[in-house]
Amino acid sequence: MKDVFILSEVREGKIHPVTYELLAWGRFLTDKLKGTLSALVLGDNLEDQLEELIFYGADKVEFFKNSELEIFNVENYSKVLIPFIKEKNPEIILASATTRGRTIMPYLAGKLKTGLTADCTHLDIEEDTGLLLQTRPAIGGNVLATIKTPEHKPQMATVRPKGKKPLLKDKNRKGEVIIHNINENFSSRTKRLDLKRREEEISLSDAEIIISGGKGLKNPQNFYLLFDIAHLLGGAVGASRSVVDMGWIEYSHQVGLSGKTVNPKVYIAVGISGAVQHLAGMINSENIIAINKDPDAPIFQVSDLGIVGDAIEILSLLKRKLEERKKRNV
Ligand SMILES: Cc1cc2nc3c(=O)[nH]c(=O)nc-3n(C[C@H](O)[C@H](O)[C@H](O)COP(=O)(O)OP(=O)(O)OC[C@H]3O[C@@H](n4cnc5c(N)ncnc54)[C@H](O)[C@@H]3O)c2cc1C
Repeated sequence: MKDVFILSEVREGKIHPVTYELLAWGRFLTDKLKGTLSALVLGDNLEDQLEELIFYGADKVEFFKNSELEIFNVENYSKVLIPFIKEKNPEIILASATTRGRTIMPYLAGKLKTGLTADCTHLDIEEDTGLLLQTRPAIGGNVLATIKTPEHKPQMATVRPKGKKPLLKDKNRKGEVIIHNINENFSSRTKRLDLKRREEEISLSDAEIIISGGKGLKNPQNFYLLFDIAHLLGGAVGASRSVVDMGWIEYSHQVGLSGKTVNPKVYIAVGISGAVQHLAGMINSENIIAINKDPDAPIFQVSDLGIVGDAIEILSLLKRKLEERKKRNV
């Protein structure tokens, strides 16, 4: 039986939405392998959330319960996971390419003496061999490389958040929830002393509204307009690679093949031509609005609403209207 494991992510006592995306990837691969999909969960007091993972695609939920596992700690998590992985010998282990996934997966792969492909944008199963095909941008985003791990097991990959939509919730799905009460004396070299929250702008991956700017903004100062509008809309600011390359805005804002993949409810592309590499990162947005002075810009071919005109004129008008609306408290 070919087992696929996903590492669930728990933040502040709640299963994080990236877990449901991982389940969708896991289900896609497991069905091809005709195997079993298990969601591994570490933490405490999560019993009432475990069945949800079955409704979203897991066949099994393996819950490792201990109050010390409430806080993410690579050494403690690995102490629990490594013996379990060695015993069950799964074909594939997936985690999200979040900070946590990117932290624990290399550690696990090192200890398990296997390979890891980080930051995949697509996963599939090779028909003849049943091997995991792990696709990710490589060489500065100039090629899409498909990587295999033919000689070592498990095959391990982290996948970019927002690259796949969760499956529809199916309350009729049946599965097994197994609770492992962990009686371990954890003795990690790191200890959390305190948690201080940083006042953060909404991250691109979590934002429901994204307003992105490209070269059509003409100069970096005009990004302030985008930030003001994003703030008024409760959204985040994205950017094309051209403006990131020119140093107008930080790389963390870049959307596209060599940047972030996003799928917000509304994506507003301002002064962005719509190159395929940009589209690769935002084409799954629910509604796309494009503002561009060129009526033939390719971005209009994928947009639900297109506005032909000067970016700054339209943004200034939009900002004024949003401020008026805010004053009226609408
Ligand atoms: C390997 C590789 C990876 C890449 N990865 C990415 C990536 O991750 N993300 C990404 O975005 N790109 C990526 N690119 C680059 C991509 O091919 C494009 O070059 C880039 O997206 C173009 O950025 P842009 O739309 O801002 O600029 P341009 O293509 O120059 O478009 C500017 C647009 O602004 C419009 N405009 C001009 N003036 C105004 C105005 N006053 N008002 C309104 N509109 C105006 C123009 O009509 C034009 O459509 C990658 C390229 C390669 C080769």
